[in-house]
Amino acid sequence: MRKPVIVGNWKMNKTIAETKEFVAAIDPLVHDKATFGIATPYLDLPAAVEGCKNLIVAAENCHFEDKGAFTGEVSVPMLEEIGVKWCIIGHSERRQMFGDTNETVNKKAKRLIAAGMTPIICCGETLEQFEAGQTEEWVRSQMRGCLDGLEAEDVANLVIAYEPIWAIGTGKNATKEIAENTCAIVRDEVRKMFGDDTAERVRIQYGGSVKPENIAEYLAEEDIDGALIGGASLKIDSFTAIINAVK
Ligand code: 13P
Repeated sequence: MRKPVIVGNWKMNKTIAETKEFVAAIDPLVHDKATFGIATPYLDLPAAVEGCKNLIVAAENCHFEDKGAFTGEVSVPMLEEIGVKWCIIGHSERRQMFGDTNETVNKKAKRLIAAGMTPIICCGETLEQFEAGQTEEWVRSQMRGCLDGLEAEDVANLVIAYEPIWAIGTGKNATKEIAENTCAIVRDEVRKMFGDDTAERVRIQYGGSVKPENIAEYLAEEDIDGALIGGASLKIDSFTAIINAVK
């Protein structure tokens, strides 16, 4: 049985003071039916790590090099030093606006795994690709690129997030059938690359307009093992309702 993993991706939201207020309210509500977590801006991470006893804390990105002339970047050893153990990589916003590619995501994944950290590797197609029926081919190629050269055991322990770009922040969530279908394709590609055991263990999230009202229907699907949540993870009320909706 795969334990669901539910992570709020705050994106570029919340100050340190707001982070402290949020984790003080939410952390005590966490229960063991799922792994719950928050991914915060870099500056909020120390406050999040300090305030979270139950929530896991993730960065939203990292660089694959340990140090050097990379203005504005943050390395894995820097995250390790402040006690961060998880990191989102390859979010579509990073791919679209900041030049992340399957190749850089693959390097980031390798660096995180070497540090004993857990990557959340994002994939997903544009509306154009969805409408042209290219979703399967696209997410399979994203998986091949992002997971290239990893060990089966490491892949079993990481998290993959399927986030159709057309469902992010639009309020137009993918139906549970569409989400399940693509998550099953992602799992099948993992099976082809790493075998049955890894495919059965890797946790695959759906992301895109997940809210308290629809999270349970995604979690009921066979191949959906959690959610990566943007907008609905920002408010204390709404994140509380999400935690309570997971039984
Ligand atoms: P929304 O939940 O706001 O659609 O964002 C999804 C997302 O991008 C999470 O990483």
